[in-house]
Amino acid sequence: MSKYFSGKLSSIEPYVPGEQPRDKKYIKLNTNESPFPPSPEVVKALDEAQVSSLNLYSDPTAKELVDAIAEYYSVCPENVFVGNGSDEVLAFVFYAWGENGFTGPELSYGFYPVFSQFFCVDYTQIDLKEDLSIELSDYYNVKNSIIFANPNAQTGLYITPEKIEELVSKVNGVVVVDEAYIDFGGESVVPLTKKYPNLVVTGTLSKSRNLAGARIGFAIGNKELINDLNTLKFSFNPYNINRLSIIAGAKAMEDKEYFRKCVTTVAETREFTKKALSDIGFTCTDSLSNFILAKTEKLSGKELYLALKERGILVRYLGDEIIKEYVRITIGSKEQMITLIDTIKTILSEVEK
Ligand SMILES: *Cc1c(COP(=O)(O)O)cnc(C)c1O
Repeated sequence: MSKYFSGKLSSIEPYVPGEQPRDKKYIKLNTNESPFPPSPEVVKALDEAQVSSLNLYSDPTAKELVDAIAEYYSVCPENVFVGNGSDEVLAFVFYAWGENGFTGPELSYGFYPVFSQFFCVDYTQIDLKEDLSIELSDYYNVKNSIIFANPNAQTGLYITPEKIEELVSKVNGVVVVDEAYIDFGGESVVPLTKKYPNLVVTGTLSKSRNLAGARIGFAIGNKELINDLNTLKFSFNPYNINRLSIIAGAKAMEDKEYFRKCVTTVAETREFTKKALSDIGFTCTDSLSNFILAKTEKLSGKELYLALKERGILVRYLGDEIIKEYVRITIGSKEQMITLIDTIKTILSEVEK
C-alpha cells in the first residue's frame, strides 16, 4: 500500500477470484463457467464489420441488449438496467441503496461484504440454518436493504417464489434477489417486480448464457429503481458495456433454443454427478445450480482440493468455517465429470491404503 492510499480504504479486503492458472491445462471446475461455447448466433454476429467499428464508442443506453433482455423476461425496457458483469450491477446496488445498510446471509456471494467495505455500507449477516439453507422469516423485521442469491451462492440451495413474495410484501426496504444461477432449475421472481416496487432482481449472462468473458449483467425492477442505477452509471462510466458485448449479449438472449439445450444439459449432468458422488459416500447439497457443494468423511475440503489439483482438476475450496469440509465443484461436460469421479475414486483408494 502506498502512503497516498486513502486511509478509509486501508482495511478493504479484496474479493479473491477463483484461480485462472496458466501453468498447465486443467479441467477447470472452479469458477462456475459454462463448459459450452456461446450460441453460434453470437459467434456469427461478431464479424469483421463489428470489430472494425471499435474506433467508435458503444451505445451508452445499450439499447439492443436492454431490449433483448426485456423481451425475454416480458418486461419494458425501462425496467432493465445493464452492467459490465453483474458484479458492476451489484456494486451500483450497494452504492444506490446502502445508506442505511444491507442485510444478507452469513454465507452467500463473496462480493457482498467486499462492496459493503468499498462503499462504507454497514453489512449485517444472518446465520444460515443447520442444513445451510436461508430462513427468510429471519428477515421479516429487517429495516434496511436485503440481498441474497437464489439459488444461493456456494450451497446452490433454492427458495421458492412464494417464500420470496412473502418476504417482499412484509418489509419496506429494497429486496435484491441475485439470480445468477436461476436458469439451472429455479423459477425467476422477475414477474413479481411488476407487483412490488421494492423488489430488484439481478442476473448475469456469465453462467447460463455462456458469456463469462463478455462481462454482461443486468437488473430488473420498478422504473424508479432502475433510474437510480442509471443515475450512478451515467455518473461513473456511461459506456459500461463495450460494442461487441452489446451484440453478443443480445444474440445470446434471443437464441432461446441453444440456451435451453445448454441449461438442460448442465442440470442433467449435475444430477448425474450428485448420484455418482453419493454412490461413493459423498454428501452433496441439493443444488439447483451449475455447481455442487460436496464433502467426504475421508478427506477435508482442502485435502481433496489439493489432491485434485495435483491430478489436473481444479475445484474451489472456499474455506469458510461452516463449509470447510466441502469443495465446490462446477458442473462441466459429462466427460469432465466422469474424469472427476474416476480421479476421486483413485484418490480415495490411495487414502484407504
Ligand atoms: C457469478 C456470480 C455473479 C457475478 O457474475 P458476473 O456477471 O460474471 O459479474 C454475481 N452473483 C453471483 C451469486 C454469482 O455467482
